[in-house]
Amino acid sequence: MHKVIIIGSGCAGLTAAVYAARADLRPLVLDGYEPGGQLALTTEVENFPGFTEGILGPDLIERTRKQAQRFGAEFASGAVSEVDLSERPFRITAGKEKYVTETLIIASGASARMLGIESEKLLLGHGVSTCATCDGAFFRNREIVVVGGGDTAMEEATFLTRFASRVTLLHRRDEFRASKIMLERARANDKIVFKTPYVIDEVENVAKNSVDSVTVRHMKTNKLEKIPTEGVFVAIGHDPNTKVFKGKIDMDADGYIITNHGPKTSVTGVFAAGDVQDRHYRQAVTAAGSGCMAAIEAERFLAECSG
Ligand code: NDP
Repeated sequence: MHKVIIIGSGCAGLTAAVYAARADLRPLVLDGYEPGGQLALTTEVENFPGFTEGILGPDLIERTRKQAQRFGAEFASGAVSEVDLSERPFRITAGKEKYVTETLIIASGASARMLGIESEKLLLGHGVSTCATCDGAFFRNREIVVVGGGDTAMEEATFLTRFASRVTLLHRRDEFRASKIMLERARANDKIVFKTPYVIDEVENVAKNSVDSVTVRHMKTNKLEKIPTEGVFVAIGHDPNTKVFKGKIDMDADGYIITNHGPKTSVTGVFAAGDVQDRHYRQAVTAAGSGCMAAIEAERFLAECSG
């Protein structure tokens, strides 16, 4: 029987682990599909307080993980396939292991959204990518396309100009959701060409198992056009990783867990932290903050139960 199980090992989960471990609760962190979460796939983090010169995302994660271990947090790999939150203690299945816990902190984060085209799926990892940091270096001196109009698309397009000879930023509207500063930075980069309002209809060439072009469609005229490219980076946002909790905890229409009074969920004793419950801020520091709140609430809850 565990006192606290934390699902997810991104910034929120690891911060919850630091706090729960320091409170002597010996939390167990279940790593999940993407250990380290989104920060593990990021390059420079310039806005995490205290790091004057910035820090690499994977470094920040590694440090926080070690910090949690220093206070006694334990880690187990494996993605959660089933949860029973109908009564306490809660039951969790991850891989072949079954766990029982008095409190649960859900910090399973969010995952990259895809366009939903068959050819995109077939060419994922063969020219199609959702992670500029991971795959950018493969596209040295090549022409690539980035899809999206938010901050992620601007950030990835700008980052990719370190490698690519030219980046075409494709967005389905003429207006951008991205913040002014990031949009302006991308616009000022002469390696980035903006192309709007377009969507990708097809990624070619599945027969060759590599990307050599995309067929794009103008959103107003429906006119098709082929753009030669060797890479496609899909940067159109994220979806919360909450499939396993469906019907077991209150969520909004998009699957984000609804929290009240900080990290409290609709199930007493279950708390949520980070991007899995936050569609607005999605920052490392806010994820860390909510992870801290979740651990403090779990500690208080356990104290009330035993008192
Ligand atoms: P957003 O939801 O902000 O943007 C997603 C973009 O993708 C939108 O422009 C959207 O178009 C487009 N899109 C969505 N679905 C499709 C589709 N099926 N086909 C084509 N285009 C599509 O996600 P982001 O990941 O960019 O950002 C999420 C949050 O993270 C934001 O709050 C952002 O500020 C933050 N962030 C901050 C960073 C920083 O400060 N360093 C870096 C990265 C992200 P449309 O606009 O038409 O809906």
